[in-house]
Amino acid sequence: MPSLRPLLLAVLALAPLPALAESPLKVVTTFTVIADMARNVAGEGVEVVSVTKPGAEIHGYEPTPRDIVGASDADLVLRNGLGLERWFEQFLANLGDVPSATLSDGVEPISITGGDYDGRPNPHAWMSVDNALIYVDNIARALSGIDPENAATYAANAAAYKDRLRAALDPLKAQITALPQDRRWLVTCEGAFSYLARDLGLKELYLWPINADQQGTPRQVRAVIDGVRAHAIPAVFCESTVPSDPAEQVARETGAAFGGVLYVDSLSTPDGPVPTYLDLLRVTTETIVRGLTAGN
Ligand SMILES: [Zn+2]
Repeated sequence: MPSLRPLLLAVLALAPLPALAESPLKVVTTFTVIADMARNVAGEGVEVVSVTKPGAEIHGYEPTPRDIVGASDADLVLRNGLGLERWFEQFLANLGDVPSATLSDGVEPISITGGDYDGRPNPHAWMSVDNALIYVDNIARALSGIDPENAATYAANAAAYKDRLRAALDPLKAQITALPQDRRWLVTCEGAFSYLARDLGLKELYLWPINADQQGTPRQVRAVIDGVRAHAIPAVFCESTVPSDPAEQVARETGAAFGGVLYVDSLSTPDGPVPTYLDLLRVTTETIVRGLTAGN
């Protein structure tokens, strides 16, 4: 059909070529939790990639050459800050001139107690929904900074996501307040739950203050065994990104139950139990409640 060809060429000449030629924005995050938040704010058409993969230890991660190549075409890099990613400055320097944003900016930090990092900010601020709302605003601001044309979309996405985050908190709180007062203890491997424990009214006991520290020394295990016995705490837990042996030892020696795996530093793969941040909050809280009510 030779008669169509001139028409096709004319249409192509009029078509808005940039829409075809532009590659989508690419956002690189340091870990999976903030990647999920960023996807919710960015919406369709923005590629979001996490450097650390599901289940990885994130504090002392060592980026590979492949990670750096994979992030080299990023339009924006998002990190948690508060000392979480000890590898970040070097990683960002390797990428050259890429804009970055620190999502915990504006959060009121809780201090780490004990260990080599005593007095420094506890970086796990995303475990408080109120703080997550600040993260979401910071993501929307950073996206609008590199892509002002779509600022209204990012603002609308952020507002809708914040509504979902606020709505998630009440059922979680109700589960905890249903527990007897003397059972409201959260015993974990890393002291990663200070923000969640504060919000939910749980007292905290942990084997080590932060994963950057020594993990599971005999002295740490002894101290938690003493605490579990002193308060007759029914269950101990450990996180998905560290070995659970020391926590299981505490359980064995005290007769407390090993209450299972908590999620804090990493999401699971999409087919796992916590593919999103909202799943992470819900599943972690449900696991805590189940562990503390078992055998009651
Ligand atoms: Zn951690």
